Amino acid sequence: MTAERAIRTARELADAGLVGPEQEEAISRVASRYAVAISPAIARLVNRDDPNDPIARQFVPDMAELTLLPEERADPIGDGTHSPVAGIVHRYPDRVLLKAVHVCPVYCRFCFRREMVGPEGLGTLAPAELDAALAYIAGRPEIWEVILTGGDPLVLSPRRLGEIMVRLAEIEHVKVVRFHTRVPVVEPERVDAGLIAALRSSGKATYVALHANHPRELTAEARAAAARLIDAGIVMVSQSVLLKGVNDDPDVLAALMRAFVETRIKPYYLHHPDLAPGTGHFRLSIEEGQALVASLRGRVSGLCQPAYILDIPGGYGKAIVSASAIEAEGGGCYTVTDFRGNRHDYPPKG
Ligand code: SF4
Repeated sequence: MTAERAIRTARELADAGLVGPEQEEAISRVASRYAVAISPAIARLVNRDDPNDPIARQFVPDMAELTLLPEERADPIGDGTHSPVAGIVHRYPDRVLLKAVHVCPVYCRFCFRREMVGPEGLGTLAPAELDAALAYIAGRPEIWEVILTGGDPLVLSPRRLGEIMVRLAEIEHVKVVRFHTRVPVVEPERVDAGLIAALRSSGKATYVALHANHPRELTAEARAAAARLIDAGIVMVSQSVLLKGVNDDPDVLAALMRAFVETRIKPYYLHHPDLAPGTGHFRLSIEEGQALVASLRGRVSGLCQPAYILDIPGGYGKAIVSASAIEAEGGGCYTVTDFRGNRHDYPPKG
């Protein structure tokens, strides 16, 4: 019996019933521009009877990706301008990104690093580059947290991951190691004892930020994979992107946040979509995003509230962009809006 493999070509997409045979040629043009991979777990999750399936929309290539808009950028969040050595992005004083690998088990059609990831992307750091990246971290005592991202760092073998973790363990001032990944959702079977041991091997506080955008992604298998990580002492937080046609609906967004919390994953970031090339069909306005985020307030538990953030194009960092519930009226007085939309004076008058 052959092991199930990821779907990577227009022909394989057509064979799997994820695109019509008549679309194969057009889709192969998209696939030659931006990497394609759909893991077996995700292929099983797609509802082929729904032309607007929110899972398919995230992973199945679309001709709309060939439409480039003037405001879109190859490096939308400015990684390049903050990269002192290969594999490191140092944007904030106390933390760095360590991008050891630019490969993912799936390729999201809205990916903000779509020009860097994939088989044709920046690849895996060479041993000398990894040495230089770790030396950069070791030489800067202000670096408190290392965030492994990419690409998806959990595609590395437990042996490779363990080697990186052991070397991070030697850097005394690094106290926290965080991984950003889609693996527990898209390849839950990969989260086994070997991987978990590797993740924990630095002895530092270890966080895993799980990227998922629709409640259906939190399958029983994904929840079990997250439980294995959490039961081993790893803290999990969520990371989602607000996407038109995927989760731009108050009920879907609420169900997604509840699914995270039920899985013991604390909702952390809800990203406004970045200005990545060919992703205009996923973007909504900031006002639409603010209204969706406001719809969560009061309606679902405080545990279910993520921070709505925008990565400022050019590499200037993240800004919280939720609508403020408080307006200054002058003289130390404010108007505060409750979750029903009613306004109140603070301090109360009279
Ligand atoms: S897993 Fe992350 S880095 Fe990889 S394609 Fe998706 S968004 Fe991009």
